[in-house]
Amino acid sequence: MHQYITITGARENNLKEVNLRIPKDRLTVFTGVSGSGKSSVVFDTIAVESQRQLNETFTWFVRNRLPKYERPHADTIEELSPAIVVDQRPIGGHSRSTVGTMTDIYSVMRVLFSRHGTPSAGPATAYSFNDPSGMCPRCHGLGKTVRPDYDRILDPAKSLADGAILFPPFAVGTWQGQTYTNTPDLDTHKPVGQFTEEEREFLMRGGKSGGKVNVDNTGGARDIDYEGLADRFERLYLNRDLSALSQKTRDLVQRFLVEGECDACDGARLNEAALATRIDGLNIADCSRMEVTDLIAALERIDDPVAGPIAAAAVAALERIEAIGLGYLSLGRETSTLSGGEGQRLKTVRHLGSSLTGMTYIFDEPSVGLHPRDVSRLNDLLLRLRDKGNTVLVVEHDPDVIAVADHVVDMGPTAGTGGGLVVFEGTPDELRRADTLTGRHLRRSTGVKESPREAIGGRWVKGADLHNLKDVSVRVPTGVLTAVTGVAGSGKSTLVSGAFVAEHPNAVVVDQSGIGVSGRSTPATYLGIMDSLRKLFARETGQDAGLFSFNSSGACESCQGRGIIYSDLAFMDPVTTTCEACEGRRFKEEVLRLTVGSSSIADVLDMTAERALDFLATVDDTAVRRRLRALHDVGLTYLTLGQPLSTLSGGERQRIKLATQLHRTGTTYVLDEPTTGLHMADVDGLLALLDRLVDAGNTVIVVEHNLEVVKHADWVIDLGPDGGKHGGRIVFEGTPGQLLDADGSFTAAHLRRDLG
Ligand code: ADP
Ligand code: ADP
Ligand code: ZN
Ligand code: ZN
Repeated sequence: MHQYITITGARENNLKEVNLRIPKDRLTVFTGVSGSGKSSVVFDTIAVESQRQLNETFTWFVRNRLPKYERPHADTIEELSPAIVVDQRPIGGHSRSTVGTMTDIYSVMRVLFSRHGTPSAGPATAYSFNDPSGMCPRCHGLGKTVRPDYDRILDPAKSLADGAILFPPFAVGTWQGQTYTNTPDLDTHKPVGQFTEEEREFLMRGGKSGGKVNVDNTGGARDIDYEGLADRFERLYLNRDLSALSQKTRDLVQRFLVEGECDACDGARLNEAALATRIDGLNIADCSRMEVTDLIAALERIDDPVAGPIAAAAVAALERIEAIGLGYLSLGRETSTLSGGEGQRLKTVRHLGSSLTGMTYIFDEPSVGLHPRDVSRLNDLLLRLRDKGNTVLVVEHDPDVIAVADHVVDMGPTAGTGGGLVVFEGTPDELRRADTLTGRHLRRSTGVKESPREAIGGRWVKGADLHNLKDVSVRVPTGVLTAVTGVAGSGKSTLVSGAFVAEHPNAVVVDQSGIGVSGRSTPATYLGIMDSLRKLFARETGQDAGLFSFNSSGACESCQGRGIIYSDLAFMDPVTTTCEACEGRRFKEEVLRLTVGSSSIADVLDMTAERALDFLATVDDTAVRRRLRALHDVGLTYLTLGQPLSTLSGGERQRIKLATQLHRTGTTYVLDEPTTGLHMADVDGLLALLDRLVDAGNTVIVVEHNLEVVKHADWVIDLGPDGGKHGGRIVFEGTPGQLLDADGSFTAAHLRRDLG
């Protein structure tokens, strides 16, 4: 007998009395254009209610100390099981968190080394870089130290007398600078780049016998001890309490520092005793540096009967990382450097290892960052979770993921107020025959672009060797749309966001990173239309414009105009609840009574961009309407003007950034996976937008896996052949038509399969 999660009358956000029966212990995929209501069902209704019900099971004492989840707007929600949300939120950013620590594989490695390494440094904490007994004393386990950047401090072409020292506090003419212009121990007219080893040593560290130098201070001329440039810099700006320096000085010093590998441990983070312990010639830091795939091979060679089982436990966990296409990572890789998709897949590894059953796992577009080649591995993973007796819910657009679902829920018919309905429920086969946007797109098959645009020029990347790139030189054509492709870890982001952007800093990078703004930011503030709205309200109501700002005297006092209250708990994700005083409307009662055309400022902020366009048409504000139309162009009209930007997905953040950048010509745009969060129908809109940018005289470079984008590009640069050290080369350059005939490219193989 099948059990179902049943929901009736769901009304969160745009949902219109949604009724649903979701089979338990099955894989259900939620599809639909962006803004149709998928997240409103899965995250805002199911996940929230599950967490709320779980909290209800605690005693009154505990419950009062937990965040209050409001009951989602729905008539009934039944048969829920505890939910685990595996999303793309970045994993804790601090530099002590690595792939090894977050997956707990590093602790298995520590046990392995403490019990079976020789000579053993002691118990397992002796191999922990987060524990004083294991950490490198110089860098305190960070593997990196900050030091003066002498390439920036000294100009080798100049002599000390004519200003070789570029660091302003030590420059010619300063009191400190006299030490270096007046020293009798150096030729102050010789370019410092021509100094002998010995002279340079004297400049930086002073003479052994301690040279004297005559300097002229307010007190008159006198002899002082020569102090080396490096010694002085370190004494004044590094080896002291930096908080005693002014912010201005700290900012200045910052510009003359570099972060580099720690010399004491060479980046290994551990102390000598820990690093001296070896198994088969390898120490634990060597193991952390290896790609997962190679580490598996090394651990499999351990055939000692006692160490074997521990090594096998590590191998089992490492194989799960490999199985989700992340075999090119190393255990030592800092989690803060992982992409959202990589992070999400790693979080999944943790859950795969657990023996929990009867849970509901919820995934948000897990295919992000995955090449079509690796999507089948992701599918295996989702199916394995299901087969352990869990309910798996996935929000996803990728046809290959939809295909393996037991059940599909298609939301629509369009976005925002035009969506919020279940337009189809059934199997993937039935969906392919259904008359919905998703169904129609699944049936459709487009060919490669017949007549790609001709490049008007080219911009080079020469000899790039960052990360895994192998001396890559490539010409990126200008005036066209270029897709950079390749399996995950092949080096696409490194080539584009690293090497290309470094050589061409005037490129406009539109990425998915957070918009560095406060919790008060909204589309209205971000697009700069809040100011015009305030003036409009002031003009029409005869009040002061300041009243209509949610960081002014007009703001609700309980929530300071945020509309929500944050509860940050050390052991849980932060939780937000609607402010009770203003019911989320952000303003004081008296401000809400002031209206324009019967709408208060809060009503306007509650409008979608689409409705706001109509509203503003009546008051004729062309500049504002133009900015709002940019939201339309990037497919975000379903957002409300006042929706906190913190609630936007990565893909939506990227598109709202793009909305502020549309008016340019002669610009090179760089976009990393712009189809993230986009339904197949939305991808058409995105491609039309990219075409318009190119036709307006711009160059567009996209890092993409979506085959529709690859087929539509004018030029394709394919990296590979594989990920990590097996990647980093250009496998193919040419038009999509030529790609079809390319050998040795996974992208070509999948394109051929897609065109069947
Ligand atoms: P999807 O997941 O299909 O992209 P969502 O469920 O995120 O769609 O959004 C459905 C509608 O609800 C959209 O119009 C969206 O702007 C709106 N919405 C989503 N989250 C919020 C929120 N926190 N506040 C206000 N509106 C929201
Ligand atoms: P792609 O964009 O094709 O998925 P990336 O450019 O992100 O590939 O990665 C290429 C290689 O560089 C991989 O081996 C990856 O682990 C490595 N890499 C990427 N970013 C970093 C980083 N910040 N630090 C160290 N290695 C990195
Ligand atoms: Zn160190
Ligand atoms: Zn309030």
